[in-house]
Amino acid sequence: MRHCIAIDIGGSSAKLAIASEEGRLLGKTSIATPKTKSAKPILDAFVQGTRQLRDIAHDRGIPLAGVGIGHPGFYDLDGRLRDLCNVPALNGVNLGICFQEEFRIPVVCDTDVSCGTLGEFHYGGHSKVKRFLFLTLGTGVGVGAVIDGKLARTTRNCLGDPGHIVVDPDGSLCTCGGKGCLEAVASGWAITRVAEQLVKSGRQTELEKAYASQGTISAQDVFAAASCGDGAAGEIVAGVAKWLAMGLASLCVIFEPEVIGLGGGIAAGAGDQLLNPVRDNFFRMVSPPFARGIRIISARVGPDAGLLGAAALVFFQKN
Ligand SMILES: [Zn+2]
Repeated sequence: MRHCIAIDIGGSSAKLAIASEEGRLLGKTSIATPKTKSAKPILDAFVQGTRQLRDIAHDRGIPLAGVGIGHPGFYDLDGRLRDLCNVPALNGVNLGICFQEEFRIPVVCDTDVSCGTLGEFHYGGHSKVKRFLFLTLGTGVGVGAVIDGKLARTTRNCLGDPGHIVVDPDGSLCTCGGKGCLEAVASGWAITRVAEQLVKSGRQTELEKAYASQGTISAQDVFAAASCGDGAAGEIVAGVAKWLAMGLASLCVIFEPEVIGLGGGIAAGAGDQLLNPVRDNFFRMVSPPFARGIRIISARVGPDAGLLGAAALVFFQKN
C-alpha cells in the first residue's frame, strides 16, 4: 500500500500526517503557523514537521510516494501562491519547489478547497460518482467539483471562486468589494455579522447573552440558539439555508452534479439543522431538468478532509 506525507495549511496552523492510500493517518500532528511577515520562518516550521514525519516513516520502513500540500488562496501557472488572505507571508512562494528541493520526492500542491473536495470524494465513498460538487461552509464559502474522477478547473486552477457568485444584488458588502455574494450572506463571518447587527438593533434574542459574554457571536451560537427555538436565530439559519440553496441551484445548471456534499466546520456542526432546509429550498428553486436524481448529503469525512485530500493529490490526481 502506498503512503505519502499530507499537509493541510490553514490560517493559524498546519496539520501534517503520514497518510496511507486507504485513508489511514499516522503520526498526525499540528504546527502553529508562525506569525511573521516573511515566508522563511513559516516554511522552516512546516519543513521541520515534514522531516519528523519522514523520519518516522523511515524508521517504520514505510516508503513515501510523495508530499501532498493543501493551502489557502490560489496559485499562478508557475505554482506561486497568491491571494492568501490569512497567511499573506506565503504569497509569491512556490511550495512545490521548496519541498521538492528539501525532500527529493514528488510534491503536489493545490488549494484547500480543491483538497477538501478531493478528500470527501475519495474518502467519503463517492469515488464512483461521475459528477460531484462539494461546498465547504466555514469562515468563508468554497466550492469544488470532481468530474470523471478529476478536479474540475475553470479558472484560477480550480473552480474559480464560487463563494462570490451573487445571490442577493441588494445584499451586504463582501470582502471582495462586491455586494450580496454568497459568502457575504451565508459564510461564517457573514452569520456573525448578521447576528451582531441583530443584537445591536435591540431585537429580543438569546444571542444577546453570547454577545455580552464573548463580545462576538459565532455561527455555532446562532445554530444552537435556533435549535432552542430562538426566533431571531432561526431567521438567520433560514436565510443562510436559502442563500446556500440558491448558490447551489445556480451551480447545478452548469455542473449537473449527481451528488452535492455539504462540508466544512459550520455545516458539520449544524448537521440536519442546515442540511434539511438547504435541501427543501434547493428543490424548490432549482431548474427541474437539473434536479433529477440529485442527492444533497452531509460530508462524511469530517475535519480531516483537507488532509486526506492533500494525500489524494499524490495518489490519484494526475492533472
Ligand atoms: Zn464577494
